[in-house]
Amino acid sequence: GSQAAIDELRRKLAPEGNVVSEAGRRKTIEVFGEPLSPVEVVERICDDVRQRGLEAVLEYTAKLDGAELTADTFRVSADDLAAAHRAADPDFLAMIRRIRERLMRFQTAILHKDVRVEIEGGGSLRQRYLPLNRAGLCVPGGAAAYPSTVLMTAIPAQAAGVPELAVVAPPTKFGSYNTDLLATCHELGVTEVYRMGGAQAVAALAYGCQGVPKVDKIVGPGNLFVALAKRRVFGEVGIDSIAGPSEVIVVADASTPPAFTAADLIAQAEHSPGSAVLLTWHEPLIEAVVAELEKQLATLSRSDLTRQSLESFGALITVRDRDHAAALCDELATEHLHLACEDPEAMLAQVRCAGAVFLGPHSPVPVGDYSAGPSHVLPTGATARFANGLSSNDFLRSNSVIAFTAETLAEQGDDIVRLAKVEGLTGHARTVTIRRE
Ligand code: NAD
Repeated sequence: GSQAAIDELRRKLAPEGNVVSEAGRRKTIEVFGEPLSPVEVVERICDDVRQRGLEAVLEYTAKLDGAELTADTFRVSADDLAAAHRAADPDFLAMIRRIRERLMRFQTAILHKDVRVEIEGGGSLRQRYLPLNRAGLCVPGGAAAYPSTVLMTAIPAQAAGVPELAVVAPPTKFGSYNTDLLATCHELGVTEVYRMGGAQAVAALAYGCQGVPKVDKIVGPGNLFVALAKRRVFGEVGIDSIAGPSEVIVVADASTPPAFTAADLIAQAEHSPGSAVLLTWHEPLIEAVVAELEKQLATLSRSDLTRQSLESFGALITVRDRDHAAALCDELATEHLHLACEDPEAMLAQVRCAGAVFLGPHSPVPVGDYSAGPSHVLPTGATARFANGLSSNDFLRSNSVIAFTAETLAEQGDDIVRLAKVEGLTGHARTVTIRRE
């Protein structure tokens, strides 16, 4: 319960702190022939792409990803997309369609609805929501392939009605050369896919360059360079949030099978790095989970990486009681919160800060990663205190609409004139008085 213990736990959950503020200042990288921090590297790449456009993008793609591309080959052709789709396993495509339907149903249901309020004198006030014109979707491809990230970014955008979507993925076998990824794009009707990654891709989307019209908003996960570039271009375009390494807190008690909990912790650590923390007030669970972890790690494909993640960023913690667990969860504001204990609804009522909450023994985090309906693009590193997971509403913007009648203006006129005079803005006051004359 001490502050030091909480700080230690916070470091486990967010080893790079807020990914942008701490890791970004480390001086380690020699992309430009001199040691620069990732922040400085990203600034240079973004500024260079802004000035020199596609030529700079292609140079960084060669330098950082080792792919020699040209103005003709950096965009995935319609033929390549169609060929990947033709070659895909029909069962894979059927699965994509099922997941698409589930996501679309949820993402459509949560869309903001237009609001209209009738006011005194026959006037009305409205809030109307409209889709963005054009969005850029970042799909990582450095270390693993993520067709799921195409689903989890493109479908919310489509539910909102965004007409133009541009996917960027690095030119790797896990990125824009991955046939599962390309087949998924084609199945969803995403026709713009670019072979570029990292800061250069974010800058190309933000500023536009030859062959890539600029977008209105850039969303999606990525490594440190993608995160820093999104922060750099924010203001020029919108962004969703800045995401770091994945994390989970599992809350379990005597009712939770230790084998389930061990599997849930391993699933997060498998991201490597991924933080996995267990909170329990049932002390014997800790020993049982340790035994299960050993058993299950022995049969896992990425067991070495996962073990390292668990040792560096994992923790099994005994708390006093349910209230103590709830207070810690709220304070740590984790990306994934799995309430695997008895009566999870009661604890949900006590916890306000989390990216996504998973209730009960049958809702492991991968149901949200892959198939349920909410997006798996979620705030990490305690940013769930102020940030939300990606959703269809991120692809809407709103206008307020004010329509007064003469009677409504008469009703509010004196207040407007009075406040305008207090602020010394007599021109403002006159817009009302002139209409009375
Ligand atoms: P990535 O695809 O995001 O980025 C790769 C790019 O980084 C390269 O194309 C290169 O341009 C750039 N880069 C690499 N080293 C560089 C250097 N030294 N200097 C400048 N640029 C450099 O990378 P990734 O490795 O696949 O990482 C993806 C991250 O996203 C992982 O942490 C993964 O866990 C996470 N992820 C999160 C979600 C989610 O929804 N939360 C989903 C999928 C992946």
